[in-house]
Amino acid sequence: AKRNGHEPEFMQAVMEVAETVIPFIEQNKKYQNKMLLERMVEPERVIMFRVTWIDDAGNTQVNRGYRIQMNSAIGPYKGGIRFHPSVNLSILKFLAFEQTFKNSLTTLPMGGGKGGSDFDPKGKSDIEIMKFCQAFMTELSKHIGADTDVPAGDIGVGGREVGYMFGQYKRLRNEFTGVLTGKGITFGGSLIRPEATGYGDVYFAQNMLATKGQSFDGKTVVVSGSGNVAQYAIQKATELGGKVVTASDSSGYIYDADGISAEKLAYIMEIKNVNYGRISDYVAKYPSAKFVAGKRPWEVKCDIALPCATQNELNGDEAKALIANGCICVAEGANMPSTPEAVTEFLNAKILFAPGKASNAGGVATSGLEMSQNSLRLSWTSEEVDQRLKNIMANIHEACVKYGTDATGYTDYVKGANIAGFVKVADAMLAQGIV
Ligand code: NDP
Repeated sequence: AKRNGHEPEFMQAVMEVAETVIPFIEQNKKYQNKMLLERMVEPERVIMFRVTWIDDAGNTQVNRGYRIQMNSAIGPYKGGIRFHPSVNLSILKFLAFEQTFKNSLTTLPMGGGKGGSDFDPKGKSDIEIMKFCQAFMTELSKHIGADTDVPAGDIGVGGREVGYMFGQYKRLRNEFTGVLTGKGITFGGSLIRPEATGYGDVYFAQNMLATKGQSFDGKTVVVSGSGNVAQYAIQKATELGGKVVTASDSSGYIYDADGISAEKLAYIMEIKNVNYGRISDYVAKYPSAKFVAGKRPWEVKCDIALPCATQNELNGDEAKALIANGCICVAEGANMPSTPEAVTEFLNAKILFAPGKASNAGGVATSGLEMSQNSLRLSWTSEEVDQRLKNIMANIHEACVKYGTDATGYTDYVKGANIAGFVKVADAMLAQGIV
């Protein structure tokens, strides 16, 4: 707290892990010395840099770029890049810290990292996006590499931005390597990577529901966000028989009582991925739906909630509303979308609740599979990648059940994910000595 008190999101993420991991350390002698948790909260390296570029009007623009290289005990640093005006050191450190545990849970050899910039992609031309990505990568390229640090996408960074950054890295280094994941399919990308986080979130929820003899079939599902994660969560939940009635962005949410069908989802993808527009455009084409400005979708009655937009987008009161409306399962697709108060509500009500570090790990897991395919110089089929993703999500679920189930049979997935993630990183750090 002394060092990081001015970083609220980072403190929030650390506190949540500490609450469950400290009691575990107290019960397990081998983890008691060597300042393990103290070392884990200190990034191995933080890189901050100036990003300068020239906009379409000929003006010079200055942004700040970051890369947090959090923990490399079990593999090269791995984690996404976020472009959003809210990006700062606290947010990226929280994400890098979470990423370390998440990557450990995937069972793949990946350390934790995260990066980004306070650059706002909204309203920028395609040329401006390219120029920014090139300027950002010009500095970042000095610090990353296929065996050192392998970034991916996150909020504001999708296939287009990864493509521009990869092109610039290749130009600067004159080498074609798997230095980024989420690449286009023609230059080393993996099938199912765009779908993986959303699909994985739904697979995880499916595993949780199965412990209660339940499934998505016939359930009403509320999703927040309308970006990469939300889109594929909507697709998979619908495929499994659920009816998804909401999607949102930072301006509000749409409610479609008939459900967001495959055709309607294709329209959301057009709005968001092609036109870079607003979710409110949905009601122009589907007038039976309504747009609720400035609000979040948690007031809508549902059986299953999938928060897929951003951190702290679901507070304690909204959690109470979900529970009162009969929601039985919340699986986080975003990183830390539920506030600590909301998490407490879910755990006290003993509903099924999955923290993002477990339920959204499918994205980075599939990035890990992209790294393997790049190293092997071959590509697996969609079916093969999807099957591996399903297996990984089932394994993460099992690990959470192993470490998170109490004597009454209730599984606290927060505790389970934190301890399972901690054990592997801690064992590797102990074996590697004080470094
Ligand atoms: P996108 O940029 O594709 O979509 C983000 C969505 O969240 C948009 O609908 C956006 O709305 C909304 N949003 C962003 N910031 C805010 C905000 N401050 N308030 C309200 N809404 C906001 O990002 P992704 O779908 O990739 O990421 C969503 C979440 O999932 C993030 O928490 C990310 O860290 C997490 N995640 C992503 C993974 C991936 O593979 N992409 C992997 C694991 C986790 P608007 O258009 O208005 O900004």
